[in-house]
Amino acid sequence: MNIQNLDEVLRNALEDSRKYIREGKVASYIPELAKVDKNLLGASIITVDGDRFHAGDWQHDFTMQSISKTISLVFALQHLGKEIVFSKVGMEPSGDPFNSMARLETKSKCPSNPFINAGAIAVAGLIADKFEFKEYLSFVHKLCGRNSIDIDKNVFESENRTGMLNRSMAYFMKNSGIIETDVEKTLEFYFKMCSVKVNTNDLANYSCVLANGGIDINTGNRLIDSEILKIAKTLMVTCGMYDSSGEFAIRVGMPAKSGVGGGIIACSENKMGIGVFGPALDEKGNSIGGYHILEFLSSKLGLHYFSNEFSSKIFIASV
Ligand code: GLU
Repeated sequence: MNIQNLDEVLRNALEDSRKYIREGKVASYIPELAKVDKNLLGASIITVDGDRFHAGDWQHDFTMQSISKTISLVFALQHLGKEIVFSKVGMEPSGDPFNSMARLETKSKCPSNPFINAGAIAVAGLIADKFEFKEYLSFVHKLCGRNSIDIDKNVFESENRTGMLNRSMAYFMKNSGIIETDVEKTLEFYFKMCSVKVNTNDLANYSCVLANGGIDINTGNRLIDSEILKIAKTLMVTCGMYDSSGEFAIRVGMPAKSGVGGGIIACSENKMGIGVFGPALDEKGNSIGGYHILEFLSSKLGLHYFSNEFSSKIFIASV
């Protein structure tokens, strides 16, 4: 495997995955997202050595949606600490759809984990209580390696206007003491972090930081503490792909997080960060084309975390 081959493998991954797009649907519960062309498909890879590969619609902007939940978690852990964060959210996969609030009433007032909507809203409440959104956004700039990243105002307004299920969860959690700050301030922060507009190169940059032990390959700066990185990546394995995280772990085997905007980040330890985008979603809310691109790359490049040593070594030795 050499660099030229990696370029070719990525292009093949994209072409092989296009056929699945017709089985998927764009997210329409956020009206602004329903306008996106479902046939878009793009991907970027950045290796820890700094080589970049792109294919398809990689320059197309889309909103991070739930991918942002990994960044807000890391931000909250770094600034507020583990005890505070995990006093408000659990660490367990829920097995329920991302927008379910059933367990808040029947199981525990703490949302199961920080990647379902209720958990991410609880974390957003902690952050919004002490920080301005621009402080969070500047962390996004560092992770993605681009200072011009901003929110998509139309998507923000669309979700803020229609996100009544999220609003209900937030008020429910205010009632049970999980959210202690102002609910509308919390929701504004949450909808804004979901509306941050990126492309797959930005996502690959961020996932390369995850793959590279928390250190930005462009500057050499540590952006994420090791202990926090371990927590974030473990939760990505167990809860990152909605209620199909178990199947994804078997079929792809990389820490990953998807969002209903069609993006997915995935990282292969000490090798590369990957960002993919395809707005046609499967019934769980994962990009259908993006999922297949990652499965293709994992199988061809031996990226599964339990891939046999042989294929991993070939890859490392020759790239
Ligand atoms: N902003 C979206 C929501 O709250 C995020 C969902 C997602 O990407 O999973 O419904």
